[in-house]
Amino acid sequence: MRVSLLSHCNLGCVYCVAGEEELRKWNRTPDGGPAELLEMIRRLHAQLGLETVRLTGGEPLLYSGLAGLVEGLRSMGISRIKLTTNGSLLERNAVSLKQAGLQSINVSLDAVDEEVFARMSRRNSVARIIRGIDAALDAGLAVKLNAVVMKGMNDGQVLPLLEFAFMRGITIRFLEVMAMGHLYHDSGRFLLSQQDILRLIGERYELTPLEREPSATARYWVTDRGQQVGIIANESEPFCRDCDRLRLDSSGNIYGCLSSNHPIPLGIGETDVEWEEKLRLALGQKQAVRFTGSELSMLQIGG
Ligand code: SAM
Repeated sequence: MRVSLLSHCNLGCVYCVAGEEELRKWNRTPDGGPAELLEMIRRLHAQLGLETVRLTGGEPLLYSGLAGLVEGLRSMGISRIKLTTNGSLLERNAVSLKQAGLQSINVSLDAVDEEVFARMSRRNSVARIIRGIDAALDAGLAVKLNAVVMKGMNDGQVLPLLEFAFMRGITIRFLEVMAMGHLYHDSGRFLLSQQDILRLIGERYELTPLEREPSATARYWVTDRGQQVGIIANESEPFCRDCDRLRLDSSGNIYGCLSSNHPIPLGIGETDVEWEEKLRLALGQKQAVRFTGSELSMLQIGG
């Protein structure tokens, strides 16, 4: 289950929000505090037997009480606790999160060049993010990188990002841009397909495909030097057919699919039978074949 802790963010990535105004629109505090959120997750865990909880947002490192929340998840017996972050606040949080029981972090980084990064995120913070990545590695957290690739925006960063990841022994995954939020009707012009990305990487490395793991979003390749690189090819190679994810947003709504524009509110005062019915409804939102897109932004549903 992916849990969106809050819908605001300290970056303004161009594929996520149309501009500062949309970013400000999401800048509000979550509906419940950590105690209420933990209670909701405890009930969902009792009903579903959650294997993994991934904390996301918005930017989850802006959530106050994050380490306590991770501890609470660990003590309710969730075996895998992960986090997706933009990494800008990671340097000062990595050790306490590891101590709280966090196991792994996905850092979203769309460029190592400061100018291209600013074009993608409307902010300047590459150096800070890199310090955060190194702090997470030093703290003993497993780290992966995710980079959304947009045609004409950061496609020149595929090889530099790959080199950056390989130098640190980190796995990197490149994401095809998804038709979400303000890009719902207009993502096609930015799409750099899996084939295009493989062609770029192929300029420097020989790639051999690996077998896809069940319910995985990424496919992986291994280079002639033994390093792994993944692609999340939501458009070119949809992975909906065996998706096992559930999402909970920061207002207490569940979703069975990122494509869904229909939040299903879970009430803390409702019975287990009522929740079970709503869980069925959410899982019924799953797409049989492919992600069809959503007018809701990842900021709202949680990426
Ligand atoms: N703030 C955190 C971060 O930056 O990782 C977590 C939330 S962010 C919405 C989660 C992921 O969604 C990021 O990796 C981001 O790049 C990705 N994302 C957001 N909108 C996207 C889109 N339209 N297409 C592809 N990926 C997108």
